[in-house]
Formats: sequence, C-alpha cells, structure tokens
Amino acid sequence: MTRWSSIVLFLVVIAATVLWFVFSSLTMDQRRSSEALNIEYFSTPESLSIEAVKARPDENWHVLNGSRGSFGYTDDHYWLTFNISDVDYDRVLYMAYPLLDSIHIHWFSNDGLIEYNLGDKQPFFQRPILISDFAIPVPANQTGEVFIEVVTSSSMRVPVSLMSEADFFDAKLQRRLVEGLYFGVLFCMTVYNLFGFIASREPEFGIYSLYTIFFGGLMLSLDGLGFRYLWPNWLYLQDKGIPIFGSLTLLTAALFAYQLLRLKNYRQTLARGLFIMAGLALVSLAVGAFSSYKVGIHALLALAVPGCLYLLIIGVYLWKKGLIYARMFTIAWGALLLSVMVNSLGYLGIIDSMFIQRHAIMLGSGLEILLLSWVLAVRYNEQRRERLIAQQRYNEELETRVEERTFELEITLRELQEANNELEQRNLEDPLTGLHNRRYFTQQIEREYRRSRRNQRPMCLLMIDIDKFKAVNDTYGHGVGDDILQAVSTELRKQARRPTDAVCRYGGEEFAFILAETDLQNGLVFAERLVKHIRQCVFSTRDGEHSITISAGVAAIDNTRDHSVHDLFTAADSALYKAKREGRDQVVTTSIEE
Ligand code: GH3
Ligand code: MG
Ligand code: MG
Repeated sequence: MTRWSSIVLFLVVIAATVLWFVFSSLTMDQRRSSEALNIEYFSTPESLSIEAVKARPDENWHVLNGSRGSFGYTDDHYWLTFNISDVDYDRVLYMAYPLLDSIHIHWFSNDGLIEYNLGDKQPFFQRPILISDFAIPVPANQTGEVFIEVVTSSSMRVPVSLMSEADFFDAKLQRRLVEGLYFGVLFCMTVYNLFGFIASREPEFGIYSLYTIFFGGLMLSLDGLGFRYLWPNWLYLQDKGIPIFGSLTLLTAALFAYQLLRLKNYRQTLARGLFIMAGLALVSLAVGAFSSYKVGIHALLALAVPGCLYLLIIGVYLWKKGLIYARMFTIAWGALLLSVMVNSLGYLGIIDSMFIQRHAIMLGSGLEILLLSWVLAVRYNEQRRERLIAQQRYNEELETRVEERTFELEITLRELQEANNELEQRNLEDPLTGLHNRRYFTQQIEREYRRSRRNQRPMCLLMIDIDKFKAVNDTYGHGVGDDILQAVSTELRKQARRPTDAVCRYGGEEFAFILAETDLQNGLVFAERLVKHIRQCVFSTRDGEHSITISAGVAAIDNTRDHSVHDLFTAADSALYKAKREGRDQVVTTSIEE
C-alpha cells in the first residue's frame, strides 16, 4: 500500500468517526427534553444572606438568556433564581459545568427549605448525585422557588437545566460512552507509545507517551472525571489539576516537537524557541502548583496561546521546507487548535450547539493524538529505511573501493609481470650482441638434451671462436673489436633458420650453436657453410672494412649411447681446440669419447 492510499484510508476512518460523533450527539440533544426555565440573576462582590437576596426588588434581577450563563473569570458571587413547576415524574436539576468551586442551593420546596452545598471544593462523594458535574434530585410533584449562589475561581459558567431523571441518566450514559471511547483511545496511545519506547529506545515515543498521559490528565480535570474516578478525595489536585496537567502537556509538547521534527538539524533559533517554551512551561507548572487556581490558570493560558501558535508556525515552516512529518504534525496541531477555538466560540455563545460545547475538544484532541502517534510510526519507519539505505550505500561504496583496489592491484601485478619478463629476458640476453647469453645456453642445452633423450632424436652442438681476435683488438682497438663481434653475431643469427636453433654468445669471442634434431653429419655441413660464409663476409666497422675467419668444433649425440651434456660440450670444445691447432678457419668434428 502506498503512503497516499494509507493517508486516505486513515482520513476516511477519521471522517467516519466524526460523523458518528455528530449523529450520536444530535440525537442526544433531541432526546434531552430539558424544561425551559425562566432564570434571573445578579452578581455582587459581597456575601449576602438568603433573606437579603429574597428581599431584593425584582428590577434588580436580570433575565438570563437561554439556560446557559457564561460570565468569564470573576470574584463576584452570582445569584440565580427560578421556579420549579409541578410535574408527576422525578427530575434532576443539572449544572453542566464541573469546575465550579462552590454552589450553594437554597430550595424553598413543598417540604420547606432544602439546602445543598456543591462544588469541587467538597470531597466528591458528598455529592447527592455522583457525576463529574453537578446535579440534585427533584422528586415528582415537588415545586418551589430556587436560589443558587455560585462562587468560583474558574470561569463563571452556570448552565442550569431541569430534565426528567430518565432523560438525564440516558444522556449521561451516552456521554459516558463517548468519554469512554475518548479516554480509551488516549489510554491505548499511551500504552502503545510506551511499548514503542521500550522496544525502540527512541526518546520521542517516551515523550509522546508522557504527553498523552498529561493531556489525558488535563482532559480528566476539565471534565471532572478525574475527580469522579481517580482522585475523589484529593481536593488539591482537583483545584490545581488543570494548570498542573496543562503545563506538563505544554512541556512535553515542546520536547516532542523538538524530537519529532529534528529541529536541531534545521533551525537552531526555532529549537531555542521550543526550549524557551519548555522552560516557561516549567515556570507555569510551579505557579500552578503553588499559587491559587486563578493565578495558575492565567499563567497557563498566557503560555498556551502563544505556545500552541508557535508549534503551529514551526509545523508550517517545516512543511514548506518539505519535511513530510511536519505536514501531519501541522494538521494534528491544527485540528486541536481548531477544536479549542470552536469550543471557545461555543462558550462565548457565538456558536450555539451543545454538541460543539461538549465534543469539539475531545474530537480535535482525539484526532491530534491519533495523528501524532501515526506520524511517530511513519517517522520511525522512515528513519529505519534511511538507516538501511545508508548501510546499503556504505556497503556499495566499500564494494567499489575493493573493486578499484583489486583492479589497481591487477594492473600493478601485470606491470610487475612485464617488468619481470623483461628482466628475465635481459638476464638471458647478451647486451653487446643481442644473442642469448651463457646463462641461457646452459639452460637451453639442458632442455634440448632432455628433449632429444625423450624423443630418441640426435642433437648437435657447435662451438665457434673468432680467429686471432686479440690481434684485431690490439691493432684497431676494442671499438672495432666490438663492431666485428656484433656483425659476426648478426650473421650467425641469420644462419640459424630453424626456430629450435639457438645461437649464444658463450663468452668473449666464442659462440655456441645448439642444433636440435641434427646429427653429426648435418652439423658438419652446417658448420662448414657457416665458416665459409664468415670467411666471405666483409664487415664495415668504425675503422673501415674488415674480414675475419672463425673456427668451429662440432659434436653430436645420437642417443644410442648414454652421453651427458657435459660429454657433448667437452667433445665440441676439444674439436674447436683441435681446429685452432690445425690452422684455424676450419671445422673439426669429433665423436664423443666413451
Ligand atoms: P685464437 O682464438 O685464434 O687462438 O686467437 P685469439 O686472439 O682470438 O685468442 P684469445 O682467446 O687469446 O683472444 C680473445 C680475445 O678476444 C681477448 C679479448 O681481447 C677479446 N675479446 C673478448 N671479449 C671481447 C669483447 O667483448 N670485445 C672486444 N673488442 N674484444 C673482446
Ligand atoms: Mg679467438
Ligand atoms: Mg677465444
């Protein structure tokens, strides 16, 4: 599945969830048949007795529009009054705002004055009906006049309604279902990302897990559910829960954004902004924990508004830079901020829908939490892929480098081989004449000897010496001697016509001819021809033209006898010696002595 199709699928799932929320709450709104109450109110900075309030003239009371009153943050005492009509079924008087500090209800009923002290400054289990916001039972056929005094350090909102007990609990159940779903999602994300952290050791999973915990704490405080289920006797936390959890949420949000978006790689200034945000969140945490709720909530709000905007700006900036997680990060934050804005508009009365009031933040934050968790998973996957690719690239690089090295080595080896060959060649070559040298002669005669033994074929050896060469040197100088040596060598080489013939300079002005496959008879013919040829040659030297003669001794082995190379050589050499003695410029053959 491609990335885009999974995004689309994800969005479809979210859209379906949203629609489900909308319809379920719309039906909820229709079913909740709250009575229209004619509520009047006034506010006063001082604390009044119920008698003084009752005696207050009518013109000093104001009519409350609708059943929802919202007056912002105030230290005043708000008084509300209305009459309860006579019906024959049980009802509930309901105040749908869980954060009110102190609610004092005076109900002049058929049975006389009934008083209730509600508000979250009281332990939870003192409430007549155990819900996260406030309600008191109104039995069937009870009527009378009600006065409610509210004092709170939270924002002053008194959404009072009167509805049948059945409808009330039905609505409450539906609400519980939605809340259960929402906190279930939050809890799953906490656990899932905690596991992610344990498994991967990537800090952003841990930070995100903490973020969901703190955000959950914030929502539980806002909803009154924390007080209901988690800390019913912990009045301190009920009082300070919102600033404390809110500050921790902002703190972890800043750290999470820093980790997720790898800000240190992009813009150091943006990263610094996040650290400042985290630092201020710590300050706000301290203020929330140690000063009054009112100061704490203002510190939190003063940080939350620019903080959230800052996160959004970073998201948009990195989105523009082409970072893919930044896109989803921005959408997630956008969803949350949008829901908070919509919720605020609801409180301000600009949007008049119970649904928005109740569910906008849950929806927005639920979406945000799911999206961010998804981003984390995508990013982790991306990182793993990058690591894999880097590893692969490294391997490939290594491979090419090895290949290059191998290639270089091969070239060097070849060059070395060539140099070696040349060296070997030189080693076996006489530098002056270009003929094979004595070393080669020794090897070659051995090889030919073995071959002739193997094949039972004859071989012949000619030893040749230039006649009276010393005299040439003495008379014309060594230069002329060298010239003649070279010229004779050239002529000798020309005479060696078979590829197996080898002409070697044995030393000084002595040469050796190895003739394979040649018997003594043929060797003699060859030698005669050679001697004759040289005799007729006129060599041009640096000192004019010169002629010389050579003597040759010939010996051969025919393999009918067991002769050695040494025997062959000695025989040829002594034949040469004999030729010299008998007058030079001639060939002498000799048979090998037994
Ligand atoms: P013969 O063989 O006829 O008995 O007399 P010869 O003068 O040739 O005999 P000998 O072997 O005494 O002299 C060989 C001379 O060859 C000695 C040396 O001066 C000369 N000779 C040996 N190698 C070279 C060389 O590379 N260049 C030159 N110019 N002369 C060389
Ligand atoms: Mg000589
Ligand atoms: Mg000699």
